[in-house]
Amino acid sequence: MNFDQPNQYAPNPNLKIWMNGKIVPVAEATISIFDHCILYGDGVFEGIRSYGGKVFRLDAHLRRLEDSARAIRLTIPMTREELATAVYDAMKANKIVDGYIRLVVTRGVGTLGLSPNRTACPSVFIIADQIALYPQELYEQGMAVISSSVIRNHPNALSARIKSCNYINNILAKIEALDAGVYEAIMYNHLGYVAECTGDNIFLVRNGVVQTPPITAGILEGVTRDAVIELVAKRKIPFREMELTRHDLYVADECFLTGTAAEVIPVTQIDGRPIGTGKPGPIVRQLMADFRELVKHGG
Ligand code: PMP
Repeated sequence: MNFDQPNQYAPNPNLKIWMNGKIVPVAEATISIFDHCILYGDGVFEGIRSYGGKVFRLDAHLRRLEDSARAIRLTIPMTREELATAVYDAMKANKIVDGYIRLVVTRGVGTLGLSPNRTACPSVFIIADQIALYPQELYEQGMAVISSSVIRNHPNALSARIKSCNYINNILAKIEALDAGVYEAIMYNHLGYVAECTGDNIFLVRNGVVQTPPITAGILEGVTRDAVIELVAKRKIPFREMELTRHDLYVADECFLTGTAAEVIPVTQIDGRPIGTGKPGPIVRQLMADFRELVKHGG
């Protein structure tokens, strides 16, 4: 597998960034080293997708951003409507039709102390670019993942429902995945149940029933997860949100991940074990096709 090579990933120098109300060249889109987002990971963000010039479920993303901000007592200095307009402005400035949008709200410039009360105005910036998270062949053949030894943040320490700029918990698990030669790692929660992956939600299929951990397992409420649950209902496929164990993973007929960047991707191997037949199963293939149709028709 051609794995993350160190660092060929300089941003496109022609990229334009929406930054605090202005469109600026990427070289001028800078954040102070005193911003608490840099000093402490103190900020919130969203990863969003556009298809055919239309942003997929923008309202759901902006609502989640507002919830994340509220949870960390950060006041976003813009209304939801202003944010929506800004997202489209960032896309327009880069002629993005099918793309990926990263919307970030930082705590703002402060002192070297932790206190968020001693920060000035939050910064808002929006990157509208392209993304290809996983190689195309993995969508056809399925991907291998591992179980991470790093558990997901305890919900009473840092709720996984907050999409904060502090992703170290996920990055530690991601490092384990990459060290093992795979792209994703399954993270369990403090009770030992399956939670989610480092940047994706997880689903299983067993005896024709689609299963996924509940939000109370300590996971991000994925926008793609919700969309896929709706597709499952439309197909009248039996569905259960339930506590899942490592055993459930190993005996599943199918497994797949969902996420804004990943979309819907089959998992065919976990911890070196083949899942089901070891090939993408009929339900995930159906849901991948349904998801394609959904985004083609505006979400
Ligand atoms: N879990 C985590 C930890 C994530 O970072 C993401 C990606 N944002 C997801 C799940 C999937 O959520 P969504 O479908 O909203 O992208």
